[in-house]
Amino acid sequence: MCLFCEIKNGNIPSYKIYEDDVCLAFLDISQATIGHTLIIPKKHFDDIFSLDEETAKHIFDITRKISKNIKEKLNVSAVNILNNSGELAGQTIKHFHIHVIPRYENDNLKIEFSSNKLSPEQFTDLVNKIKL
Ligand code: 5GP
Ligand code: ZN
Repeated sequence: MCLFCEIKNGNIPSYKIYEDDVCLAFLDISQATIGHTLIIPKKHFDDIFSLDEETAKHIFDITRKISKNIKEKLNVSAVNILNNSGELAGQTIKHFHIHVIPRYENDNLKIEFSSNKLSPEQFTDLVNKIKL
């Protein structure tokens, strides 16, 4: 059985900070920084690719509210919002979740992007491929 479904069902304890009919938010067991929170839909979706529109809208709005609350209560000025979808992206629990990670001065957290330099043609090709 999925670990986050077990948390949602109350079979595995968690430090909950928010709950409604659709979603649940609790502290990540491994606090990347203090206040690191996970937001999950109660219904099981593997990842962003299978998440439905209504749930996605709701979860993003709750992510916004939780971020604002953390900013105020933990007195931080910044957060990273992160989702890993797929093993290659670092997803370890296959139940969709959003990470809210408060940022502090000198917190030593590294979220890095490498830089691929594309030509204008390559940018145009890419746009033509993936535009919606
Ligand atoms: P992912 O790598 O899939 O994006 O993130 C999974 C997250 O779940 C990790 O940050 C990990 O620390 C967290 N996690 C794993 N097991 C548990 C658990 O039993 N309880 C809680 N609260 N978090 C967990
Ligand atoms: Zn699940």
